[in-house]
Amino acid sequence: MTPAPDPRRYDLDALRESLRDARGGEVDDSIPELARADPDLCAIALALPDGSVLHSAEADVAFSIQSAVKPFLFALALLDTGGEALDRVGIEPTGESFDAITLESGTGRPPNPMVNAGALLTASLVDGGGPDERSTRIARGLAAFAGRELDVDEDVAHNEHLLGDRNHALAHLMRAEDTLTVSADDAVAVYARACATLVDARTLAVMGATLALGGVNPCTGARVLPERVARDVVSVMATCGVYDGSGRWMRAVGIPAKSSVSGALVLSAAGRLGAGVVSPPLDDQGTSVRGRLASEALSNDLGLHSFAV
Ligand code: GLU
Repeated sequence: MTPAPDPRRYDLDALRESLRDARGGEVDDSIPELARADPDLCAIALALPDGSVLHSAEADVAFSIQSAVKPFLFALALLDTGGEALDRVGIEPTGESFDAITLESGTGRPPNPMVNAGALLTASLVDGGGPDERSTRIARGLAAFAGRELDVDEDVAHNEHLLGDRNHALAHLMRAEDTLTVSADDAVAVYARACATLVDARTLAVMGATLALGGVNPCTGARVLPERVARDVVSVMATCGVYDGSGRWMRAVGIPAKSSVSGALVLSAAGRLGAGVVSPPLDDQGTSVRGRLASEALSNDLGLHSFAV
């Protein structure tokens, strides 16, 4: 077998340049802050096991993490409940969009932690006596994955709480099924605030690497999660992370990942590296168009496909 190419020799700026002319996709307009995103933004970063972070231009441009927070909410819920979160949320792909108003038939549980219903629930399972305490705990947890404190965009948090009608509907549905035990409004507020956390491509790469490297942050050396929890989270990213595009993603890219409406992607190539990619225009499944192209190129050029021999 030929050895895997060395990411340190990879020209991320050349990859970025090759993608800049790729058109297509639409910038999300569910809240004004997302609608104002720069459609030309394109950044790629890789975080390696030795703690080095390689990146293209624009890798320090901040954006709200949105659904790329979901694997980390799942991780924190598993940690804080001692694994009980696995009884409270399913782990099967839905084949439906991220905010579909459906729960698992027969149990009333959210289908998986990577769709909105699941993330509303996992955020509610994180330790804390009320919504403020839970948000503080989530901020602390995300900081451990990132290796630095992260700010929250208060306008994004406010507008997602105010305008997230489908999330309110999902929370009420889970209340009716007795699967959500906090108030529907608290659940949406905590989830909206988590989605409004500001990151950049470099930070997302470090967060993805912490999951990919068995729960140890390669930059700080801190163990953030037990290895088994990291493995569980990455497994569910692999099957459910790109919503109803997860099957096509795994065939073409082969790296567990989570997409988001801000055009961010966090990728966790087990044992190898974490990657953060951002470019706001999205395809029909809510995946960044350039992010997908960048991920395919990284997978092919660096030999990162999980099932390539
Ligand atoms: N905050 C967004 C929502 O709940 C996240 C969706 C996504 O990024 O896919 O609608």
